[in-house]
Amino acid sequence: EDKDWSFMVRVRAPAGRLTAAQWLALDGLAESHADGTLRLTTRQGVQFHGILRQALKPSIAAIHDALMTTLAACGDVVRNVITTAAPRADAIHARLEAEAFRLSSELLPRSRAHHQIFLGEEETAVVEEEPLYGPTYLPRKFKIALAHPSDNTPDLLANDLGFLALTEGGRLTGWIVTVGGGMGMTHNKPATYPRLADAICVIGPDDVLETAKAVVRLSRDHGDRSDRKHARLKYVVAERGVDWVRDRLSADLGRPLQPAPALPRLAVPELLGWHEQDDGRLWLGLPIPAGRVAGPLRAALRAVMQAFAPRPIVTAQQDLLLADIAPQDRQAVTSLLRAHGVTFAEDLTPLARWTLACVALPTCGQSLAEGERVRAPILADVEAALARHGLSGERVSLRITGCPNGCARPYAGDIGVVGRAPGLYTLFVGGDFEGTRLSFQIADKVPQAAIAARLEPLFAAWAADRAPGEGFGDYCARIGQDAARGLLD
Ligand code: SF4
Repeated sequence: EDKDWSFMVRVRAPAGRLTAAQWLALDGLAESHADGTLRLTTRQGVQFHGILRQALKPSIAAIHDALMTTLAACGDVVRNVITTAAPRADAIHARLEAEAFRLSSELLPRSRAHHQIFLGEEETAVVEEEPLYGPTYLPRKFKIALAHPSDNTPDLLANDLGFLALTEGGRLTGWIVTVGGGMGMTHNKPATYPRLADAICVIGPDDVLETAKAVVRLSRDHGDRSDRKHARLKYVVAERGVDWVRDRLSADLGRPLQPAPALPRLAVPELLGWHEQDDGRLWLGLPIPAGRVAGPLRAALRAVMQAFAPRPIVTAQQDLLLADIAPQDRQAVTSLLRAHGVTFAEDLTPLARWTLACVALPTCGQSLAEGERVRAPILADVEAALARHGLSGERVSLRITGCPNGCARPYAGDIGVVGRAPGLYTLFVGGDFEGTRLSFQIADKVPQAAIAARLEPLFAAWAADRAPGEGFGDYCARIGQDAARGLLD
C-alpha cells in the first residue's frame, strides 16, 4: 500500500509583492488543500505545508489561476528575487521593485515541463532550449537580492548576487555588484562555510539584467558540479578571488568593469508599525512570528483583506506589510486587527521583533533540531537574560535554525542559534545588525534550555563595557572570539 505522501509547496512572490485577491486565494488553499497555515519565508515567498499527493496538482493549478506560480521557487535555478518590502513612493524604491520583477521573469527557466506536468499543457515534439541555463541548469540554487544602503532588510550580502543602488539626490547613478554570499555550511566540514558576498564592480543604472545573466553563467560554468556541498558560487569567489571574477565577467560582457568602491554603510530600518508611504497612503507592518499565519491571525488577515484590500508584502524577516491603506482607514484597520487579538510591533521587545526562526521539525527534511517550535522559549529566556542587565530596549537580532543550512541567516545577525542534534545547538555571535559582518562560533552542543544562560555573561560584559551606541554583535566582534568564548567558560 502506498503512503500518504505530503508535500511542501512554495509560491514565488518577486519582492514579496502580492495582491489582496492573491492573498485570499492562498488563504483559501491553505484551508482546502494544506494544513491550514500559510508560511511567510525569509525569501519573501509563501509556503504551504502538508499538501497531500492527491492535492498537489490541483493546488499548483489553483496558484496558477490566481496569477502566481511555484515555478523556480525551488531548484537549481535563480530563486525568488528579493528586495526591501518597504512600499515607499520614491523613484529608488520603485526601481528596486521593478528590477526585482524584471530579473524574476527574465531569469526563469524556459522549459514548458512545469506547465506540462502540473498544469495540463500538451506535450510537444519541440526540442526545448534553455538559453541561459543550458541543458544541465545550475550546479546549485542561486539567490539574488537588491537593496539600497538605507535599507538592507534583504541581507544583500547573504546572497549569491546582490545589487546595491547608488544614488545622488534621489536619482539612481549605478549599482555596486556583490557576488559570492551564502549561508549554508555543514557541521564538522571546514570546507563548507557561510560567506558574505564581495563587492566586485560598479555598473550603470541600466545594466542590472545583463550583469545578472553574466553572473548566472559564471556560476553555471564554474560552480563545482561534483559536490553539491561545494557547488555554490561563493566557493568559486573564495577560491578564485575578486579580480578573477571581475575579469571573467568583463570577458563575458565584452567590456571592462570598474572595480567597486568600499561598500557604503548599510542600515536596517524598522518596517513594522504604521508608516507613511509618501504618496498620501500608509502601510502597517505586522510581526508574524516564524512567518506562520494560522488560526486567529489568518482569520484576522482574511477579514482585513476582504474589508480594505490592502496590498500585502512579505518581508525578508518573515513579517507582513499591509500597504496602500488610506489614512482614514487606519483606525478601523487597527480596531479590526485588535478585535482578533493580533499582536502589533509595539507590543513586542526589539528582540522579539528581530527574531527569525526557520520551520525545521517536523516539516523540513534537513532539520537536525527544532526551529520554530523552540522560538518562543528561547526568545523568552534571552529576553529575561537581557532584562537582568537593563538591555530590554536594545535592538538585537536573534536567528534560530534547525540545521546549519541557515535559511534564517543565522551567521549574519547579532546572535545565531543553529541546530546541531536533537535538543542541542551551536551558538554564534559577532555578526552585525546591518548584515555586513559574519559571526563566529562561541559554543557548541548547548542544550536548548541553557542557551540564554550561556549568553548571559556576554550580555553582562556588553552592558558594562560597551561603547556608546555599540550593538551586541559589534561589541562581541570588538572583544574577539577568544575573549567572547573566555567569558562563557
Ligand atoms: Fe533551512 Fe535547515 Fe531550517 Fe530546514 S532546518 S528550514 S534546511 S535551516
